[in-house]
Amino acid sequence: MKVVDFHCDVLSKLWKNPEASFERCPGLDVNLQSMEKGDVVLQVFAIFLSEHYGQPSFERVIAQLELFRTRLIETGNLQWLKWRDQIEDVRSGKSRWGLLSLEGVDGLEGDLFYVRLCYEFGIRFMGLTWNHVNWAADGVMEKRGGGLTNKGREMVELCNKLGIILDVSHLSVAGFWELTELVSRPFIASHSNAYGVCPHPRNLSDEQIRAIVAMDGRIGLTFVPWFIRDDTASVQPEDLLPHIERVCSLGGERHIMFGSDFDGIDQWVKGLENPGKYQEWGNKLLKHYPEELVRGWMSENALNFLEQHLPEQQESRS
Ligand SMILES: [Zn+2]
Repeated sequence: MKVVDFHCDVLSKLWKNPEASFERCPGLDVNLQSMEKGDVVLQVFAIFLSEHYGQPSFERVIAQLELFRTRLIETGNLQWLKWRDQIEDVRSGKSRWGLLSLEGVDGLEGDLFYVRLCYEFGIRFMGLTWNHVNWAADGVMEKRGGGLTNKGREMVELCNKLGIILDVSHLSVAGFWELTELVSRPFIASHSNAYGVCPHPRNLSDEQIRAIVAMDGRIGLTFVPWFIRDDTASVQPEDLLPHIERVCSLGGERHIMFGSDFDGIDQWVKGLENPGKYQEWGNKLLKHYPEELVRGWMSENALNFLEQHLPEQQESRS
């Protein structure tokens, strides 16, 4: 069964450790072998700039982008998904694909021209924040819980115009609701679960899930143990089922996809430790749900969304 995964942080690991190899490194959750074993046909790669390594800058955004281009694309390991008409080829399953997203706009330094450059350089998804405040908005762990700044609102307008799709995982609740008023295209939560099942601030409330379903956005359920269950001692893949049930009960069975957060975590669900486990996960789901739904969650819901919302190559944008 083909798999699409909407979030991983392996680019950060490759950036931190120049010795790491996407082809061979066993220290990476996401690598060529695990993608092949799990039949992951499309992986979304997040560019994430941790503050541990100093002030996020556009230079560091470009460094990870270059790493993606030189180490994953030019080596022939993956094809670069940027345009709507490539989805047909992704569906054919003949090769593996990568898509770029930016996890928090901190590195764009408040410069809207950099947002435009990101689009030109092939970044198609953008989360406004990581957990903290930046020039665009408050992140979900920012205690005061503010929404978007004026410049953040300008950025959203520009993303609407360019065709960059926004990602609300990590965004504050106030920011989430402001965004529903501002966007002209649906947004996604690339790696979040249901708050109603596991009350962690990174998860989505029923109201938020309903709003994403109403706009025909997508929710990437995630394999981060502490977003699945309060007690993370021995989280099993089956512990994700209540999250699936919750989203389905809110009308979202066609809106579920998966965003593992592989390489962004240091604790794993037992049996879902890397993309190589995706086929076992699919088989577990098939014991509980019809094949058509499971195929939707594994790849089709994500691909249908991309087919509608990725830009068309010939479109000229000003
Ligand atoms: Zn994240």
